[in-house]
Amino acid sequence: MDISKLVSNFISTFGIKPEHLIRAPGRVNLLGEHVDYNAGPVLPAAIDRAVYLAGSPAKSDVVQLYAFDIGKEISFSLNNLEAKQDLEGNPLPNWALYPAGVARAIQQSGRQVAGLQAVYTSDVPIGAGLSSSAAVEMAFAVVWQELGGWSADRMTLARICQRAENEYVGVSSGLMDQFASAHGVRDHALLFDTRSLDWEAVPLPTGTVLVVADSGIRRSLTTSAYNERRAACEKAVEILRQDLPKIQSLRDVTLVEFNQLRHKLPPGVSLRAEHVITEIERVFSAVSALRSGDQQTFGELMYAGHASLRDLYQVSTPELDALVEIASEIPGCIGARLTGAGFGGSTINLVEQDHTDAFIQGLKQGYIQATGNETQVYLCQASQGAELIKQ
Ligand code: ADP
Ligand code: MG
Repeated sequence: MDISKLVSNFISTFGIKPEHLIRAPGRVNLLGEHVDYNAGPVLPAAIDRAVYLAGSPAKSDVVQLYAFDIGKEISFSLNNLEAKQDLEGNPLPNWALYPAGVARAIQQSGRQVAGLQAVYTSDVPIGAGLSSSAAVEMAFAVVWQELGGWSADRMTLARICQRAENEYVGVSSGLMDQFASAHGVRDHALLFDTRSLDWEAVPLPTGTVLVVADSGIRRSLTTSAYNERRAACEKAVEILRQDLPKIQSLRDVTLVEFNQLRHKLPPGVSLRAEHVITEIERVFSAVSALRSGDQQTFGELMYAGHASLRDLYQVSTPELDALVEIASEIPGCIGARLTGAGFGGSTINLVEQDHTDAFIQGLKQGYIQATGNETQVYLCQASQGAELIKQ
């Protein structure tokens, strides 16, 4: 990202130099899918694609924003954020709800926001599974932390951003995206326990890259199918609790217990629960594999995770299956699976760095042959979390 271009944009928009420059990354999830609402562990990594924001304090309590990538401007007051209106009283457009929601969530947490002039731009593609929205939120949380004269720990910043997305934008989502954007560690995956909120960084194999391949498919049924999966998990807990009275969620059920009791579950519910319980085990096994430098086992766990999402949780699509199958046959591919909620979206591939170019070419060609469609491919490296850029 060309920071000098961002700065010159800021200068031509506001006629002054920006006081703060901020970078807030997107993320990938390497393993641990559909386990966050079962209190399980996830394994995301922040990536070297990010939102870049140039900002300065404004004299009034007005926020003036220029979203460079979409070529849109907005001005709104910090005094009536609940109204979700711009200075003229028009409803805030969707894109402006993300920054305004962060301001509102900061206020609700009892902290100060301040008038702001900002320009921002991003190389996190929207809707490709790399969480462009969390990157936007985190960039604004960091700039308001600077301007507001307070300092919060990273988890608090992540929760402020999650609240903005859940309550102000109105998208219900877990904490993983904002967590990863806030906590990223270069060349590391992040083991994040969604129950205790404990986390630790785990080194990724040296000489590897992360390749995200977008199937280009966006399914509209996502919400109802997602709710059906959540309900099945709750049903499983309800039934298993008759024998295991202490369990709160599927996180508390071991695979041994599950195998003893699964006959008590309706078949559909049993499949969903099996995915969640085995996926949680896969995350812990994958972390052990990373720690012992066993990349082959790590890759096998990614493939197994995909098979489980396809066959047990049934959230894959023919296109995502094709991407994983094609990837698995290309030299240098360590592991591949769908990432995100499924029903379309992207796959994540762990690839030996030396094979990067041939891998990407092979995947693109293979996908066109198999489906007639093109795949957008994003080459990523695990990166550090949100940060101030020194000028
Ligand atoms: P994702 O999976 O990429 O997070 P979401 O639908 O959750 O997709 O969030 C995308 C929304 O975030 C966009 O529609 C837009 O409102 C906001 N957003 C993301 N990137 C930008 C950007 N570069 N400039 C302005 N708004 C952005
Ligand atoms: Mg998002």
